[in-house]
Amino acid sequence: MLVLFDIDATLLTTLRAGVLAMGDAGRRLFGGSFDESRVEYAGRLDPLIIADLLAAHGRDAGPAGVEAFRAAYADALADRLAEPGRARALPGVTDLLDALDDAAGVTLGLLTGNYPETGSMKLRAAGLDPDRFAVRVWGCDSPHDPPARDHLPAVALERVVSVTGSAIDADRAVIVGDTVHDVACARACGCRSLATATGVYSAQALADAGADLAVDDLTDTEGLTRWMLTPTPTAPPI
Ligand SMILES: [Mg+2]
Repeated sequence: MLVLFDIDATLLTTLRAGVLAMGDAGRRLFGGSFDESRVEYAGRLDPLIIADLLAAHGRDAGPAGVEAFRAAYADALADRLAEPGRARALPGVTDLLDALDDAAGVTLGLLTGNYPETGSMKLRAAGLDPDRFAVRVWGCDSPHDPPARDHLPAVALERVVSVTGSAIDADRAVIVGDTVHDVACARACGCRSLATATGVYSAQALADAGADLAVDDLTDTEGLTRWMLTPTPTAPPI
């Protein structure tokens, strides 16, 4: 079993440090009128968020422009996360990760729109060690152009082979996330979807989007672990 966690509003909150740092980076690079509120963030890939921000401000949204902004964003995020009380793991997360660590045959992973350097910063700031996730798939890891979150589960299933030495079928991977985009990427790849209403989407909206299980939060350690470890029953042969 492979359990892939989204980061923002699933594992942790940074009280919008990521969004604020996007604005800080833009203002440092382009001046005070840079407005981070012009684009959508929830559940999207950072390279696409940055390209949209740059385009919305008439700046170079090509690879060079995105990479320059990425570096400024990392600096700005470090400053934001240094503010006291910014980052914390969401309720139930630490217990759930511990329970999954203790369960036999479970590989923990990340599947996130964050870049590796900034996603790891957020995890550490919330007291979560990025290295406890053996399979890590980041927002810049799509092999396709344009990139999309829907491409990322296949990357995770590829990487799990080099980590565990054996392949895992898509339906034995669970994608845990807080947005309809997390649900959609699971469905696009035949993975199971566990959705948590700890972000901007309600449990009903996540269920309507097709989540296999939608919950208010991740506090039911035993119930969630049992659900994740019980594979979807295969339809009986006709
Ligand atoms: Mg999220």
